[in-house]
Amino acid sequence: MKQNLLNFNLKELEKIVIHNLNEPKFRAKQIFQWLYKKYTFNINNFSNISKSTKEKLNTKFEIKKPQIHHISYCEQDNAYKFLLKTEDEKFIESILMICNKRVTLCISCMIGCPLKCKFCATGNELKFIRNLEVSEIVGQFLEINKYLQKNKIKQKITNIVFMGMGEPLLNIENVTKTLEILTNNDAIGISKNKITISTAGIIQGLSEIINKFGIKLAVSLHFTTDKQRSNFMPINLKYPIKKLLEEIKKISLNKRDYITIEYLMLKNINDTLNHAKKLVQILSHLKVKINLIPYNPTKTLSVKTSTEQQLNLFAKYLRSKFIPVTVRRSKGQKIKGGCGQFVLSKENHENF
Ligand code: SF4
Repeated sequence: MKQNLLNFNLKELEKIVIHNLNEPKFRAKQIFQWLYKKYTFNINNFSNISKSTKEKLNTKFEIKKPQIHHISYCEQDNAYKFLLKTEDEKFIESILMICNKRVTLCISCMIGCPLKCKFCATGNELKFIRNLEVSEIVGQFLEINKYLQKNKIKQKITNIVFMGMGEPLLNIENVTKTLEILTNNDAIGISKNKITISTAGIIQGLSEIINKFGIKLAVSLHFTTDKQRSNFMPINLKYPIKKLLEEIKKISLNKRDYITIEYLMLKNINDTLNHAKKLVQILSHLKVKINLIPYNPTKTLSVKTSTEQQLNLFAKYLRSKFIPVTVRRSKGQKIKGGCGQFVLSKENHENF
């Protein structure tokens, strides 16, 4: 079986060119540049590589990535939602959000998700199938950037967030390799502070990956007590709040950096002033920014989002304690932009 060139980081590719192709090490950089700088996905078009090397490459390797299957655009939000099809005919989703010069791509790292957070369409309504390969994670970036170029949309992707389908830290090997490709200047070369990993609270490898790459971290905390968090997010039974916060404390932050704490606003569940007070208390030893997220209802959880008035009171209290607060007005809701909702509508044969 042929191996996919998009599944390798530079070090692995260097080993391949030396040991499998009997070529000098610099050939790996050339291949990397064809793939990630020139968007050339046909080995025969690698023009500075000899015919014999291309033949050797073609015998053992191929280049495969997910293909765009459907696109929805929401003018009001200036957001695109992409449904991509993998080689084994599964669907994944990515969202592109354009805000002035900042163009953020939200990518998926799994097909479905095993964590089953109660408020999430991916975790509850889609079956967990598998982790995505490196070629399928980085492939979302390549396909969508190519789409922007082809359609003469001037913006290029400037920021990446791992907030699509799946938990990045449960696919840590492939996410690590993807980060190596994204941040390598001979490949995509995105600045490390423009990349954010979001976790539902897996502790294994958390501080290591953030410290290794110097990227940003967002933690989906959402609740202030273990009882409530475990009820909505079963992963909390394995990694309770105290352990999670201790792990986050191990992250080295620069002066201007902070950890983003995601907090879903659920009416009468976690949105009272007492909850705000508890939140301030448990985060007191961390440098954080809190992102309040009005809840985008899914079929499986029939709770309401907090009222605007309650959200403002909650935010006001946090700000009075000198904690920076943002409110995420969810982009892409109108195009089924909640995590997993676009794939779901495809599976349910709804009209896009
Ligand atoms: S919120 Fe994230 S971690 Fe939780 S089930 Fe959904 S995709 Fe998985």
